Amino acid sequence: MKKITAITISVSLLALGACTSELDPKTVHANVITLDTHVDVPLNYMTPEMDPGTDTVAQVDLNKMVAGGLDAAFFIVYIPQTDIAKIDEAKYAEARKIAETRYAAIKKMTETYPERIELAFTAADVRRIHKSGKRAALIGMENAFPLGPSVDDVPMWAKRGVRYVGLTHFGHNQFGDSSNPNKDDGQTTDMHGGLSPLGKDLVVALNKAGIMVDVSHTGKKTMMQAINLSTVPVIASHSGVKAVADNARNLDDEQLRALADNGGVVQIVAFDSYVKVRTAEQVAYIAQVQADMGLETRAARSAMSKDVRAEYTKRTKQVYDIAPRASVANFADHIDHAVKIAGIAHVGISSDFDGGGGVVGWENAAETESVTAELVKRGYSEADIEKIWGGNLLRVLQAVQDGAG
Ligand SMILES: [Zn+2]
Repeated sequence: MKKITAITISVSLLALGACTSELDPKTVHANVITLDTHVDVPLNYMTPEMDPGTDTVAQVDLNKMVAGGLDAAFFIVYIPQTDIAKIDEAKYAEARKIAETRYAAIKKMTETYPERIELAFTAADVRRIHKSGKRAALIGMENAFPLGPSVDDVPMWAKRGVRYVGLTHFGHNQFGDSSNPNKDDGQTTDMHGGLSPLGKDLVVALNKAGIMVDVSHTGKKTMMQAINLSTVPVIASHSGVKAVADNARNLDDEQLRALADNGGVVQIVAFDSYVKVRTAEQVAYIAQVQADMGLETRAARSAMSKDVRAEYTKRTKQVYDIAPRASVANFADHIDHAVKIAGIAHVGISSDFDGGGGVVGWENAAETESVTAELVKRGYSEADIEKIWGGNLLRVLQAVQDGAG
């Protein structure tokens, strides 16, 4: 009899536990500002081929943002890195041209659809635009490479609305070491030993201009030095955690703690191979496809024609026949770990959509609510979810802008 009572009690406790969350994910999703800190734009963005005001093949366009309740996003001025050892003025000019093209397209989007989306320059702008029923667009620069051999252009980019700058991308640059040295160019872990002298100038210039320093894609030394040097909080705009998936792009616990101590935020990224480690078989399969197609180097892959890219994508997709793609649950495991180590005030969300991002359940902006549903399921309160979905990032943006000048 006693035994039965004990069982009954534990069963009812379990039942209680299961419905600790009486929150309705739809309501929570509608109540909070949802901000995705990393959405790439293709080079043909805002041309008739790729007009985000229409239904597109892109993972993010205005209709998908509305359908999925995605309120705000950083659209990215991304510039691929070329071999910094062979740099010359022509290479910098090329990089600048790519930056101009992407920036112009983002600006054009906000000018073409002023009733639907507006460029935000401040955290207060994001809140005001959201209240007005429109989407907020912010601008991030991924890779400081096009700034060239000085930091003189930083105020100009700040004026245009760039609100974070990623110090590096794949491969070291003039500012610092990347988390992923370009082995094709003979790079090893350390080129500068973290930030170069120019990289230190860049952190100072970004602080002064009210632009957030972004350490995603940087090497650990680069990141730690940037945090020490910055007078305001820094961000990792799209990174995962190493404890869940040991990928060079992800942050270890020491890095998570450093971000938290600095008042910053890690925006957990929904990028399949950073969320879930590829199996040895999957890695071997991709290497085989690359070898078959003569695409072993990063340079060869970034120079693929449209047809070759389509073939490459088709073949590499078969990697998911070997092991399934990462899911929203796998993605939330990274959020849980980051919250455990860094605290609820230092974690956020990014998709890397149209730049390789997407996980099963959150494949495009129209499916954004499933992320909120997963967080509700895991017992996060609405106040927690508000912080994770944008509150933390807006706090950092505010602090960085307050500290400018
Ligand atoms: Zn990236």
